[in-house]
Amino acid sequence: MIRSITRQKSEQEIDHLLAELGRLFIIGCGTCTTLTRTGGEPEVRAMKGRLIDQGRLVTGDVVLPVACDNLTQEALKEYGQQIGQADVLLIMTCAFGVQTIASQLKKMVIPALDTLFIGKENGIGTFDEICTQCGTCILGETGGICPVTSCHKGLVNGPCGGTNNGKCEIDPEKDCAWTLIYNRLKELGRLDSMRTLQKPRNHQGEPSPGKFKF
Ligand code: SF4
Ligand code: SF4
Repeated sequence: MIRSITRQKSEQEIDHLLAELGRLFIIGCGTCTTLTRTGGEPEVRAMKGRLIDQGRLVTGDVVLPVACDNLTQEALKEYGQQIGQADVLLIMTCAFGVQTIASQLKKMVIPALDTLFIGKENGIGTFDEICTQCGTCILGETGGICPVTSCHKGLVNGPCGGTNNGKCEIDPEKDCAWTLIYNRLKELGRLDSMRTLQKPRNHQGEPSPGKFKF
């Protein structure tokens, strides 16, 4: 299952972001942040309790089924009065959810989470980064293993000089991505791909904001 992976900001950072702001309404998400336990029912309840204990006024809270969906606007209508009484929305969804809500409501938004990457669940509560959507996919030359996400240095030409008996010099517990790529290409009879020199990446190639049109 592919998910937007998030991490809750520190209490200090959230308190700092809310410092000058008054009453708040809290919004969580029933999909990704519920699964990663950063913005589901229990986390929204805990956040609300902590802020109320600090003496803050919370006008209400909701965990939307899918915060990044356009139907969010309809779901939030039900809470119109409580949202209307709030000065700010504290949002416990990924950045996509935050932007979706911000585009639908005329309210100040504060994200309570940092969005880290698109991840794949590989066990209960464990997610691996699989793609940073770098815009220059080289999986065809690496046997389907992504070096941008699985090499600690994100090297597209590897391995580095620190590779050690198949382990990574930065994290000896972790397999060296480029050894995995080598073994995979060997298995496929495509070791010649190791000789392909990837050109330096143009990180400014895609102007922001990114757009795509058929
Ligand atoms: S090279 Fe890796 S990060 Fe880049 S698009 Fe392909 S899978 Fe994603
Ligand atoms: S040892 Fe392998 S995985 Fe670690 S930084 Fe070097 S090439 Fe990347």
